[in-house]
Amino acid sequence: MLFRRLLPATAVAAALSLIAACGGASDDTLAGKAEDGKLTIGIRFDQPGLGQRRLDGKYVGFDVDVAKYVAAQFGVRESGITWREARSADREKLIASGDVDFVVATYSITDKRKEQVSFAGPYFETGQGLLVRYTDDEVKGPETLNGKRLCSVSGSTSAQKVKDQFARDVRLVEYGQYSDCVVALLAGNVDAVTTDEVILAGYVAENPELLKLVGAPFTTERYGIGLAKDDAKGRAEVSAAIEKMVSSGEWRSALERNIGQADVRLPEPPKVTEK
Ligand code: GLU
Repeated sequence: MLFRRLLPATAVAAALSLIAACGGASDDTLAGKAEDGKLTIGIRFDQPGLGQRRLDGKYVGFDVDVAKYVAAQFGVRESGITWREARSADREKLIASGDVDFVVATYSITDKRKEQVSFAGPYFETGQGLLVRYTDDEVKGPETLNGKRLCSVSGSTSAQKVKDQFARDVRLVEYGQYSDCVVALLAGNVDAVTTDEVILAGYVAENPELLKLVGAPFTTERYGIGLAKDDAKGRAEVSAAIEKMVSSGEWRSALERNIGQADVRLPEPPKVTEK
C-alpha cells in the first residue's frame, strides 16, 4: 500500500512490465512454462519400448527418451519432469486443459486433432498392424477379419480406421489402453488387436512364444509431439529440438536402446515438417 501511495499508477505499471520483461518468455509458451525448471509431460505407461512405467517406478521407452531430450533443450532436467499418463482418448483434453505441457505418446499427427492441439515433428513413422495369438492361423491381414472380434483403443486412429473400413463384418471391442487388449487376446476374449506395429512389436517382445504380428502395415502413422494449439513458438522450438536429437545421433541410439530387441524394422528418422 505504501508503495502504491508513493508512486503514481503509471510508474507502478512500468515497474511491473519491467519485471515481466526480465522474467523472459511469456507463460503461454513452452519456454515460459519451463522457466522454473519444471515440466509436466504426458506419456504412455503400458507400452513396452515406447512409454512404460516400470514396477520400480521408473519411466522408460523411446517416447520417454524423446520427451527427456526435448525437456533438456528447455533447460529442464529429468528431476524436474512430472510424468502423467496420457491415454489415447485423453491426449487432446490433457493438452487443452493445461494439465500437461506437452505429450509424447505414440500420438499420430492428424488434421482433426490439429483443430484442438498443435504438433511438432514428426519424430517417428510407423503403420497400423495386427497382433494375434501365436497359434492362430486364420487371421492373416485386415481382409481376413470377417466375423472376428478385434480389439483397439477408444480415441485412437486405429479404432477409427477399423470403424471406417472394416466395421461391416468385424466386431470391434474398444478398451482404454492396448495392454488390456493384449490381456483379452491372451485370454481368448478377442481374436486380434490392432494399432501401430511398433506398439504391437513391444508386446510381442514381452511374449514371443504367445503372440505374433501378421500382415503388412496398412496405414502410415506419423508421431508428433502435441502441445497447446496457439503455441507456434513452442512448436517451432520443439521441432528444432527433434532435429537436433536426430543430427546428434541421440535419436538413433535411443531407438536402438528401446526398440532394438523388438522384431520390427528400425526406420530412418522422418523429415520434420511441422515448424
Ligand atoms: N498412433 C495412433 C494414435 O495416435 C494409435 C496409437 C495410440 O492410440 O496411441 O491414435
